[in-house]
Amino acid sequence: MSIDLEIARAATLRPIADIAAEAGIPAAGLDHYGHHIAKLTRPYLDSLASRPAGRLILVTAINPTAAGEGKTTTTIGLGDALNRIGRRAVIALREPSLGPVFGRKGGATGGGHAQVVPMERINLHFTGDFHAITSAHNLLSAMIDNQLYWGGSALDPRKVTWRRVLDMNDRALRRVVLGLADGPARETGFDITVASEVMAVLCLAADPADLIARLSRIVVGRTADNAPVTAGDLHAAGAMAALLADAIQPNLVQTLGGSPALIHGGPFANIAHGCNSVIATRAALALGEFAVTEAGFGADLGAEKFLNIKCRSSGLAPSCAVVVATVRALKLQGGDALDPLAAGFANLARHVENLQRFGLPVVVAINAFTGDTADEHRSLIDACAAMGVEAHICTHWADGGAGAEGLARAVAAAADAHDAPLSLTYADDLPLADKIRAVARTIYRAADVAFSAGATRDLARFEAEGHGRLPVCMAKTPYSFTADEKLHGAPSGFVLPVDSVRLAAGAGFVVALCGSVNTMPGLPRVPAAARISLGADGRIEGLS
Ligand code: ADP
Ligand code: MG
Repeated sequence: MSIDLEIARAATLRPIADIAAEAGIPAAGLDHYGHHIAKLTRPYLDSLASRPAGRLILVTAINPTAAGEGKTTTTIGLGDALNRIGRRAVIALREPSLGPVFGRKGGATGGGHAQVVPMERINLHFTGDFHAITSAHNLLSAMIDNQLYWGGSALDPRKVTWRRVLDMNDRALRRVVLGLADGPARETGFDITVASEVMAVLCLAADPADLIARLSRIVVGRTADNAPVTAGDLHAAGAMAALLADAIQPNLVQTLGGSPALIHGGPFANIAHGCNSVIATRAALALGEFAVTEAGFGADLGAEKFLNIKCRSSGLAPSCAVVVATVRALKLQGGDALDPLAAGFANLARHVENLQRFGLPVVVAINAFTGDTADEHRSLIDACAAMGVEAHICTHWADGGAGAEGLARAVAAAADAHDAPLSLTYADDLPLADKIRAVARTIYRAADVAFSAGATRDLARFEAEGHGRLPVCMAKTPYSFTADEKLHGAPSGFVLPVDSVRLAAGAGFVVALCGSVNTMPGLPRVPAAARISLGADGRIEGLS
């Protein structure tokens, strides 16, 4: 059995009502999904709106390896550690997707002694939010093809961009032909549910009214003369929102250390913004002295979009950023250098600098692995100190919250002392192409951006249609500052290619695709699914 599942199973979970009561949530504020999971009710969420907000802590990372460097694990360990030192913390995380659970990476509930539980349920169906999002997305797809079937629609069947989704890694569905029985036949494809614009909409919506407004604005395709056709034009938004009535309410669970954790929504971190819902983050801030949250991938993608997209549209602002680094990933970033750890440090230094440019205090968390040496840890602490940044060796994976108390004290002190405004990378009124350039130059350190002819044409079209004030959502490889995943360290002076752009008018951003981005992953030759089973005792086995 995997160590994560073994530890999670050995834990004695407390009734979720008790965890809620400690966080000040009354019984009436909970909608129970069994003993250990509950959703917060809409009236209760509304009642939180008038409360003063706590301080927001953003957990991000250096450019990761494919295994992940422990952002989720550190978010949980830090939340537990803050509670241990007497500072009330509530954790806010994304929901796992079945793609990675059955594919390569495994679940997304943390690891070792820093996990959210019940891990099996959170990793599999949880409270059905992703099923609801899948249904809402595919309802819109069905209404589109229904219009095409009955005729009279202004939609040009060749210009439908809205695809179908499934929460599964299934490469066979990337391109399919629809309508072979009753027509009209047309080519389309499936994306994984986390890539659905409905997911991004749910995660950026402030409340049910905003949810419907955003769903209505989703552009599903165009007419023969390229006028946009929206979900609102198809009268689909209301029914889609109805399917999302429960999914829009955040889910409360506990960590192994007994901290409250809100797990809600999970947009892709490439073609979407990669963090949990605004609703959950706001609730965590209303309930805790601190809300600790994670943004997907490395800080070049995750934190940048957390700040320039989620914080811009919601008014949220972190009081401290934590950059997670591992010896393993830093060595990878160091490449063939004689001392790869020292060379790889440039990657960490760049991310720290970038976050400081946003006006945020930064603390580095070295997520300790058993194979690391004390010398490696010492050299990282010294290198951080030389740039005026505190770094803490964290052993929460092995020791739970006790292993991250040093980090927690440093983060609390930095957040308590912080009162500078957030400095975003670009203003709303900058042209879309210049917004992309601003991110490429300021965050990635590119010399310039090379837009394809199609991207230039489409950006002009989006601006002419009134979407020029939207932020941009950068989609590129998470493994490098550049669009080439093999370029490690801290490259600069390169030209960033923008191959195409997409309008996500419902979510409220314009996606810039730098290189090819796969929105329907495939399974590896031997998927994790081959190890997962159901025991005779009715318990799930093999999850990691
Ligand atoms: P991220 O959120 O950055 O993608 P996760 O926190 O999900 O990363 O961690 C990825 C995987 O690495 C998980 O399976 C987790 O159990 C494992 N992991 C994280 N930290 C450690 C550690 N310090 N030692 C061993 N395994 C770890
Ligand atoms: Mg994670």
